[in-house]
Amino acid sequence: MRLNPCELEIDLFCKGVAIDGDLPRGLLRTRAGLGSGLELVLPGAPPLKKDVWVNAPVTEPFVRDTPFLFRGQDILDRRTGEAYAATIPPEPPWYARPTSSGKLMRQVGVMQGTYLGIYVGVSCTFWRQGLECRFCTTGLNEDVQSRKSVEDVVETALAAKEESGVTFVHLNTGYQGGAAARIVAPFVEALKRHVGVLVGVQIAPEAPKFEFDALIDAGADHFSFCFEYMDPEVFRRLCPGKEQAMGQEAFFRALEHCQGRMPKGACSGEIIAGNEPIERTLEAIDWITSLGAFPTVCVFRPLAGSAMADEPPPRYEDMRRVMKHMWERCRDRSVPIGLAPNIEVSLVCQPTDAAYLADGTLGDRWYMWKLGLLRRLARPVFRRRMRPQPA
Ligand code: SF4
Repeated sequence: MRLNPCELEIDLFCKGVAIDGDLPRGLLRTRAGLGSGLELVLPGAPPLKKDVWVNAPVTEPFVRDTPFLFRGQDILDRRTGEAYAATIPPEPPWYARPTSSGKLMRQVGVMQGTYLGIYVGVSCTFWRQGLECRFCTTGLNEDVQSRKSVEDVVETALAAKEESGVTFVHLNTGYQGGAAARIVAPFVEALKRHVGVLVGVQIAPEAPKFEFDALIDAGADHFSFCFEYMDPEVFRRLCPGKEQAMGQEAFFRALEHCQGRMPKGACSGEIIAGNEPIERTLEAIDWITSLGAFPTVCVFRPLAGSAMADEPPPRYEDMRRVMKHMWERCRDRSVPIGLAPNIEVSLVCQPTDAAYLADGTLGDRWYMWKLGLLRRLARPVFRRRMRPQPA
């Protein structure tokens, strides 16, 4: 049976893609240690007509068995003979330019779909302590470990906004020994003041709550908290640093706190599907959406170089069930998803992608209609928030 764009996205996450011939651009290891594959855009299909961005695994050993073959302009499913259109987004022209300090802009920030992801701070402390999260490869990424100044980040974000139409910059740090919020704050302020973009922050809850409040006051538009797993035993085993330094509860309280202070749908809980029983993943989605936040669900990728490199990737059928559940819970809780302009994420299946999995009930159609209306009503709000703001 022919897959819709979201089903193809999920199957690519689970199986990866082989490549026929040469690539027009190289593969970039992205920050956060969750992806290092081929960026692809899958054109939208009726009835949604929404394009789907996917970062498909290429180099990991499990890709040897993939049925998918990228042929330059399409992906062949060798099981069924079906061909799916797919394009590689062009490499941003600013990637190869240096900032005024001489750092290449692609070493400062990386496009992950249509947004700019930037790792700030020094490399994650857990890597130096041997307590890194077992799925992560951030510590192997040299670009991540080199320090970036506020000027480097502002210049790169300005180029990304002007030349690639970026509307959203996502700042991320690994564990910074209690200093993450203070490290991130000057970047948030400078991006809001000099660039005029939406700014997301992904840090661990290593700081007291008032430091999150200070970031909200500085203009942060979004927070995501990576608690990864709902099952406390799995969290303890696969995230030993997070367990020892903060504990799972700290992530829950931080998400509750920030979502409680921000508009519905502004925050997300980030989880990895495929390493704990599916029922626990569904439970995590239920809990995140009950707060009015949205789930960011990564399909587990056994990355080469990580401690879990030899684990099998998850099954497509399980991941499809998870993503459908994500759509249904966002719908049931009326979480406003996809309102901000031009934010497509290639490393995860977004709740808006999962709309392709909807059964088309009256509730689905009503929710989609509401989202369309909210998107129009929210336009002036986002326009305002994307203007450079005086101090
Ligand atoms: S906190 Fe975990 S996932 Fe994040 S950078 Fe550190 S080791 Fe990697």
